[in-house]
Amino acid sequence: MKLLIVNGYIIDPEQQVNAGKNLLIEDGRVVGLLDRSEPLPEDAQMFDATGLIVAPGFIDLHTHLREPGQEYKETIATGAAAAVAGGWASVCAMPNTDPINDNPAVTRFMIEQGQAAQLANVFPIGAITKGSGGKELAEMGEMKNAGIVAVSDDGRPVPTAAMMRRAMEYARGFDLTVVDHCQDVSLSAGGVMHEGKWSLILGLRGMPAAAEDVDVVRDCVLAQLTGAKVHLAHVSTRGAIAAIRAAKQEGVNVTCEVTPHHWTLTDQAVSDYDTNTKMSPPLRSQDHVDAILEAMKDGTIDAIATDHAPHHIDEKALEFDQAPFGIVGLETAIGLAFDLVHRGLIDLERVVEMCSTSPARIFGLTNRGSLKSNAHADITILDPQFEWTFDATQSKSKSRNTPFHGRSMHGAAVATIVGGRLVYLHPDFGRITEMKQRGAAAK
Ligand SMILES: [Zn+2]
Repeated sequence: MKLLIVNGYIIDPEQQVNAGKNLLIEDGRVVGLLDRSEPLPEDAQMFDATGLIVAPGFIDLHTHLREPGQEYKETIATGAAAAVAGGWASVCAMPNTDPINDNPAVTRFMIEQGQAAQLANVFPIGAITKGSGGKELAEMGEMKNAGIVAVSDDGRPVPTAAMMRRAMEYARGFDLTVVDHCQDVSLSAGGVMHEGKWSLILGLRGMPAAAEDVDVVRDCVLAQLTGAKVHLAHVSTRGAIAAIRAAKQEGVNVTCEVTPHHWTLTDQAVSDYDTNTKMSPPLRSQDHVDAILEAMKDGTIDAIATDHAPHHIDEKALEFDQAPFGIVGLETAIGLAFDLVHRGLIDLERVVEMCSTSPARIFGLTNRGSLKSNAHADITILDPQFEWTFDATQSKSKSRNTPFHGRSMHGAAVATIVGGRLVYLHPDFGRITEMKQRGAAAK
C-alpha cells in the first residue's frame, strides 16, 4: 500500500527540509522525500497537497482523556477523534484517570482502547507515585514494559523535593522523562486564578506566580543533581521561564511546554467569571504572556501542548470558586499557533518543531516527529491561509469547556495521517484544494 503526497511544501525541522517536495509512504512508514522532478511511482495512491504544508505528525505531550473512569467527560475514542481533527497524530495521555494509571493493567487498557479507535496514536503517561498521592513511587519499570512513554503526577505537583529527587533517580534508570506540574501548593492553596490586579478587582483568591516559580527552580536544581530528563508542563510565568533558560545554559537536561491559552489570553479574561477561563496554572497577566512569547521565539520553550482537560457542562456551570480547573484544547491549538505566525512573532518552522520534532525528542518517541526515511508515516497537513471560526458545538470531544467558542482563526490542520492511514480530512478539504490548484495554475 503506497501513498504519494504530491505538490505539497515539506517542513521537517529534523532534516532541515523546508522545500516543495513529494512524500512517498508505504506500509505505514516513510519511504522518503522525492524531488518534484523525479518520476512518480505508478502504483501509488495520490494525495494532492497543492498549496499546503506537509509536516511530521503533531504530538501532544499533555492530553487528559478521562478513560477509564470519567467517560461522561471524554473517552479515549472521542479524545482521539478530537485530536486528529485538530492535527494531532499522537496524544500522550495523562494518568489522572480513575483508577489512576499507576500500574501496567491500566496502561495496557489505555493502549488497547487507543488501538481500537484507530485514530490518533495514544501513548499513556504513568503516574510518578502510587495513586498520584505523592507518598510512594509507582512501579515505573512495569509500566514502561507495558508501554508508558513518561511519568507524571500532573494535576498534583510532586509535594516534596525529597520525593521528587527519588522519582528522578528512579525514572532515570528506566530512561523515562519526568513531567512535573509545577506549583507549590503551600503558596497556591485555595487560589482559583492568577494573583494580581484582576484577582483583587474580582474578589477571587489568587495563585501567585511565585508558586510556579518556586517549584520550577526546585525541579531544575534536582534535574541537575540527578541527571534525569525533566520536562516542565504548561509553564506560564516569567520566573519559571527565566529559571529554565538559566538551567539550559548550564547544560541541565530540562525541557518545557506551553499551552495556547497561556499565550492567547490574560487574567483579564476572567473578568466575567466565565468558568471556561479557569485552569491550572491560571491565565496570567500580560507581562507573563510577553515572557512566554519571547521564550517561544528564542527556543527556551520546546513544545506546544494542549493540556486538553474535558469537563462536563454541569461541572463547569458552577460558581467560579467551585468549578473544576481546565479547558478542552485539541481542536483550537493549531489555529491559535497560526495566530502567532501571522502576527510575525514566530515562524511556521518553529511551530512545526514545537509540535512534532521536539515532543518526539522529549519523550524519546523513536522514528516519530520527522519525515525521514523509515519514520512512522504520521503526517499533519496544514493550510496556513484557511479562515474559519471555531464552533464548540461541532467539536469531536464530548466536552465543550472552551473560552474559544466563536473565535475566528486563520490557519488550520486540514488532514491528518496516522501510520499511513488518512484518519482525518477537513470537511471543506475539496473546496480548499480546488482553490489552491486554481491559484497554482494561475501562476
Ligand atoms: Zn497540569
